Amino acid sequence: MNKILSDSGKVTRYIEDYGLLTAAQKELVDAAAEATKNAFAPHSHFLVGAAIKTKAGLIVPGSNYESSSYGLTICAERAAIFDANNHKIRDLEMIAIVTAFEDRPTEEPSFSCGACRQLIYDASQIYGTNIGIITSNTSKSKIFIATIRDLMPWGFGPVDLGVDVKKYRT
Ligand SMILES: [Zn+2]
Repeated sequence: MNKILSDSGKVTRYIEDYGLLTAAQKELVDAAAEATKNAFAPHSHFLVGAAIKTKAGLIVPGSNYESSSYGLTICAERAAIFDANNHKIRDLEMIAIVTAFEDRPTEEPSFSCGACRQLIYDASQIYGTNIGIITSNTSKSKIFIATIRDLMPWGFGPVDLGVDVKKYRT
């Protein structure tokens, strides 16, 4: 196992072995891997599966859905967050992301785009949870674990706008 420092100076783990994950982390990574099968990616051919775990232990998957106009494309992470919200679920604890090319596995884990980081950061402020992020390559041989605050230090969210976030807890 390699240890590296995130931007915030915290030790973040870059795990080579899926076997080192906790049972809950494995379950979430597996759900994200399964979600890559539902990706609609006719343009990039890059399949992304995400899975959210709530504090109550619910798992909500999502996959990327691309548009021919490109700009309307929705990432897997946001698809999962929106679907969770459709079921009045906002207490996110952890999110896993797994990627694959349509015709081959990915070698490296991928990180959420800026838009998804913002949405995860917003969600993190609703319950005051530093949401865990696990991202894996296709074969689950390279897994990176961090938190939203690692990936988006000094973020801006609803609390900064003076929103009474407790009102939006489900
Ligand atoms: Zn994204």
